[in-house]
Amino acid sequence: MGGSTMNSRRKFIRQLAGASAGLAFMNLPERLLAAEDLIRLSIVHTNDIHCHIDPFPDTDPSYAGQGGMARLSGLVKQIRQENENVLLLDAGDMFQGTPYFNFYNGELILKVMSEMGYDASTIGNHEFDNGLDGISNVIDFARFPLISSNYDFSQTSLYDRFPKYAVFHKRGIKVGLYGLGIELEGLVSKKNYGDTLYLDPVKTTIQMESFLKNEKKCDLVICLSHLGLSYRNNKISDTVLAGETHFTDLIIGGHTHTFLEAPLEMKNADGKRIIVNQAGWGGLMAGRIDFILDKVEKNTPIAYSQNLHIVS
Ligand SMILES: [Zn+2]
Repeated sequence: MGGSTMNSRRKFIRQLAGASAGLAFMNLPERLLAAEDLIRLSIVHTNDIHCHIDPFPDTDPSYAGQGGMARLSGLVKQIRQENENVLLLDAGDMFQGTPYFNFYNGELILKVMSEMGYDASTIGNHEFDNGLDGISNVIDFARFPLISSNYDFSQTSLYDRFPKYAVFHKRGIKVGLYGLGIELEGLVSKKNYGDTLYLDPVKTTIQMESFLKNEKKCDLVICLSHLGLSYRNNKISDTVLAGETHFTDLIIGGHTHTFLEAPLEMKNADGKRIIVNQAGWGGLMAGRIDFILDKVEKNTPIAYSQNLHIVS
């Protein structure tokens, strides 16, 4: 490939990066994505699956026949066929919600998610529903890390079970992940979280994102958050957190069960773009965000499709 062609591609990509409005994924020329100097990374994500392994029952007033991990798995396979460079992520509350939890205590959902090839999740408040022992008994069924940066388990039996961060290498792109949980006091009974300490999510974020960007030299920094999208009061949430960040490119959220038709574009503390997304709950929706990076300059223009309803 000639140098001038490469330069003009870079220029075009830079223009895309500077575009203010959300870029429709479908409008990006495929030949551009096929260019060897560009790398596309597809982030596919869920939250609050709540053990909804089967589709919702036909009698459900809102979501009759929708969802189901088999369909979600089919969708993920299809995306992986289009682009091998995929990260499959979850923002917590995998546990509680169907008889599968009552019978299998999280074992089955963690096995299913492992089979689907999830790369990482974080810890939701319902992960504590059977106490710390309940987590301890099933956590090894997850063949992916549950990343938690702001729950301090050092005083508990789970002290070495959850990494504070993870770094994934995807075709030359270094992706750093950190994870945030919601404050447990008042939400989860004390006997279920015991001596787990809650660290301030904003302070934790400032430390983790700087560590991942500046020390680990990650090209992309992603936060898996179970804080919730936003609240009427000034309680910390993903949209509040977004404005405090410097190096986070994407916050994948959960907890508030918010169906966003498309990811939100927000401004970080430096006025730069940060994406915030959440994908409903119960395996009814999957979020998808594609980052397109220049292999040499590693700048991060973003294109994304709409979030996908898991219907059929
Ligand atoms: Zn939750």
